[in-house]
Amino acid sequence: MEKVIVIRYGELYLKGKNRDYFERLLIKNIKYKLKPFDCELEINRSRYLVKNFSAQSESKILTALSAVFGIHSLSVACCIPNVYESILKCVLSEAPATGSFRMNVNRGDKRYPITSVALAAKLGDAVLSANPHLTVDLHEPQNIIWVDVRENGMAYVYGKVLPGSGGMPVGSAGRGLLLLSGGIDSPVAGYMMAKRGLGFDALHFHSYPYTSERAKEKVIKLASIMQRYCGKIRLYCVPVTKIQEAIHAKCTDSYMITILRRFMMRIAERVANKYELGCLINGESLGQVASQTLESITVTNDTVKSLPVFRPLIGMDKQEIIDISQKIDTYETSVLPYEDCCTVFLPESPVTKPTLKRVEEEELKIEDYEQLLDEAVDNLEMLKLGQVE
Ligand code: ATP
Ligand code: MG
Repeated sequence: MEKVIVIRYGELYLKGKNRDYFERLLIKNIKYKLKPFDCELEINRSRYLVKNFSAQSESKILTALSAVFGIHSLSVACCIPNVYESILKCVLSEAPATGSFRMNVNRGDKRYPITSVALAAKLGDAVLSANPHLTVDLHEPQNIIWVDVRENGMAYVYGKVLPGSGGMPVGSAGRGLLLLSGGIDSPVAGYMMAKRGLGFDALHFHSYPYTSERAKEKVIKLASIMQRYCGKIRLYCVPVTKIQEAIHAKCTDSYMITILRRFMMRIAERVANKYELGCLINGESLGQVASQTLESITVTNDTVKSLPVFRPLIGMDKQEIIDISQKIDTYETSVLPYEDCCTVFLPESPVTKPTLKRVEEEELKIEDYEQLLDEAVDNLEMLKLGQVE
């Protein structure tokens, strides 16, 4: 008996004129995920089928597909000719021994001689006689057995529906630039935006030799893990060592982080414009640290003129962010000890309510401000990402 994986996609956003566009992207993303496996993808009107895969790769394919945004749910189904006896055999093999159940029959092929209601009743009776400890519950059953009778002379029978990642196909909302540190928050921020269909490249600032090679490797690993969900990511690495030294030498201590963040945002805007990326994304959460108060965000946000800055974590608690980072497998890497450029030259008491006027006065003390910006962008390095299944 052949097994297939049924892929169902979200319905809402596929309605209307954009349906083809979303579907094409979703199919492209699914095909990319299926590349490492020996299998075929069959495209039907309302669902897709993965066929001809080996039993050993079944769970790996399910794991890979469950990370594709735009997929609503997945099922491993028995694929059999739509003859009553064959359908019944599969249904019985899916039936639980105890608890309550219901049959869900969909007759896609209206030429099939029995109506879906009649077929559900007939199959349900047969399941009950074979499993006397089962009960029928049409409203809140503990188990559902699905039968899908298709137009191609085949029927699909399954007993489990696994949730997909939901959301929109990555790329359907365009492409942005994620500011990726080695911490817990920024990978989660990228994940949240990818769920809404945004693809992105990532930008990491380092302060070598104050920050180590290991810190860089950690970011490469994080971006590699994120590719499971977010599609292909290009990772840019920009040194801010000279900028930090200049700030340290010339500006008031308590303003150091604010000024560095403004540099970062300016660099990010230039990089995004250069690579035609339509927005910036960061992992700020309101009030989490001194640089994320309303006043601090106002002052850093002021530097970006040409693009929106998305902060998908702005209203989330740390624990909520940690829960997502554990779910997407970035947490273990994020908590490895490392130095971030923000922790180099850390002032004792960073300002929590900076003003634009004061920060602009501070920045005037750095005479070669523009030159430092240009140099940082010129020294951008594109890093190679590791492969993660
Ligand atoms: P994270 O856990 O993402 O590092 P955080 O709570 O440590 O965040 P900050 O260090 O204040 O907060 O950073 C806020 C945001 O600024 C980060 O989420 C990230 O988007 C960006 N950022 C900070 N440091 C870097 C860096 N070295 N390279 C790129 N982006 C950075
Ligand atoms: Mg950080």
